[in-house]
Amino acid sequence: MSRPHMLRGIGVSPGVAWAPALVVRLDFPDVPDRTVGAEEVPGEIRRLQAAVRVVVGHLTKLGQRALERAGPEESRIFDAQILMAQDADFLASVEQLIRNNQLSAETAYEFKALELRQLFSGSGSAQLRDRLADLHAIQMRMLHRLMGRKEEELWSIPAGEQVIVVAHELAPGLTVQLDREHVVGLISEEGTNTSHAAILAHSLGIPAVMGLSGALDEIRSGTVLLLDGQSGAVVLEPTRAELEDARVRVSRRQRFEMQLEGVLQEPAATPDGVVITLMGNVDLPDEIDAAVSHGAEGVGLLRTEFLVTGRATMPTEDEQTGYFQRVAHAFGGHPVVIRSYDLGGDKFPAAFKAPAEANPFLGWRSIRVCLDRPELFRAQLRAVLRAAHGRNIQLMLPLVTRVEEVVRAREMLAEEAAALQAAGVRAADTVPVGVMIETPAAVVIADLLARESAFFSVGTNDLTQYTMAVDRGNARLAARFTPMHPSIVRQLRTIRECGAAAGLPVSVCGEMASDPLGAVLLLGLGYRRLSVAPPAIPLVKWVIRNVPEAAARDAAERALAATDAAGVVAALREGIGGHVDLRMVSPP
Ligand code: PEP
Ligand code: MG
Repeated sequence: MSRPHMLRGIGVSPGVAWAPALVVRLDFPDVPDRTVGAEEVPGEIRRLQAAVRVVVGHLTKLGQRALERAGPEESRIFDAQILMAQDADFLASVEQLIRNNQLSAETAYEFKALELRQLFSGSGSAQLRDRLADLHAIQMRMLHRLMGRKEEELWSIPAGEQVIVVAHELAPGLTVQLDREHVVGLISEEGTNTSHAAILAHSLGIPAVMGLSGALDEIRSGTVLLLDGQSGAVVLEPTRAELEDARVRVSRRQRFEMQLEGVLQEPAATPDGVVITLMGNVDLPDEIDAAVSHGAEGVGLLRTEFLVTGRATMPTEDEQTGYFQRVAHAFGGHPVVIRSYDLGGDKFPAAFKAPAEANPFLGWRSIRVCLDRPELFRAQLRAVLRAAHGRNIQLMLPLVTRVEEVVRAREMLAEEAAALQAAGVRAADTVPVGVMIETPAAVVIADLLARESAFFSVGTNDLTQYTMAVDRGNARLAARFTPMHPSIVRQLRTIRECGAAAGLPVSVCGEMASDPLGAVLLLGLGYRRLSVAPPAIPLVKWVIRNVPEAAARDAAERALAATDAAGVVAALREGIGGHVDLRMVSPP
């Protein structure tokens, strides 16, 4: 059977690259069952302990490297791995097996490792399943070490060559070791844009495609690949014409990027004079600088879960206050919208002991966790109030499905404000409290929620997930996950109308606003405030500055009449085609 010419996965880190593939098979080694004599048992236990020391030393170095090359948040991934590698209960169980059954260190370790992996992968807890890739990475390192193989022997890039690394799964440890000069692209069968490795690839600026199922069956080391980290397309053995086309695209892109630089200091206003407030989404502290330098007019979504990622403890009230103050300071007088903890679903950090659940995305998450765990929520509310003293700070509640959640959250905020005043702590009397509209329930009761809210902000990521019943992190369903579906477009119209009827500001902070076509649709539907990923600000601003509002409105009207997502996209492309070069805005 001939090999396919093109495979399609999820583009997780933009850029076009071409080079021969280097297939990296980071598999578990074959561990022979080996028993030892009673007198060898202490030596085996020492060997186990020594291997842990070596692996922890290696992970520490990787963490250091991640710190230098990506940032402190990225390096915390390794802190979590180090904690796992040193897990005292697990190591004690391995030692006991060595003693009781007189097994070699690697045989006992493999046995216990397998048990643990089964426990993790069968778990309903997103926290545990999220950790499976980390666990694999550690166990594999340990087993190779116990079998006498050194880390550097596991894989290596031929000196002086450029390659595209292809793997089943890209553990963060592998990603961070990659040298930007030699590794020009990344491909993995597993993973989506929210996996750790994707976040790292993006920070390191390496074009990457994940969720490319069958990659290891189709691609051999040496196969020349052409990868598009935006569309997710991977061409095998590209023709000369395809490579030439890629070169043209890259240089066109470079010229276009220079053009984009030019709009950074300009206002986000359409040619017919409609002004849009373009804000930035900030997930990791490192993004503050990028958002400021790209001209973000404040922060429309400050995610606070990442303050917790990879940490052993939850952040204190003081630490949160300091962080919020720092962000507000960076944005001058522009508003900073702090979102209360959106824990749960796929965001249960180790510091937060989450229960196992069969359906974490439909489970105990987000505002539900905050209301049920007042000590967590109240500390965050106090931090928000303290940071808001003399600063333009607002609070936003995620995953709201019921009016009483907003009412209760506001009561708690008022109680904390009163307590801070009584204690003589410098803090704001209150802050505006807005609601994220990101479930169909919230859309249907938007008029009721409006009575309790200072503003709405639409989370199109979750709104799409819950409306379409498509898990946003499932690589297999990635093609079905689109906010361009008529069910979302219609809800966006309803939300905007509800907000207008109640006189509330309504913004969009889901990824849809970061997509140029999505931004045009929102503009056409009447949205005037968008909060986007900092790297997307120049492109979104450029689109706004080139597409008249009247054209966007026409395109949105036609999109509202479409019967499927493809029709919505086609209506938008057609509507704005006369105003911008569509090749720059979205791949066909
Ligand atoms: C959303 O759901 O669209 C959103 C902005 O929140 P998050 O992606 O953090 O769930
Ligand atoms: Mg959300």
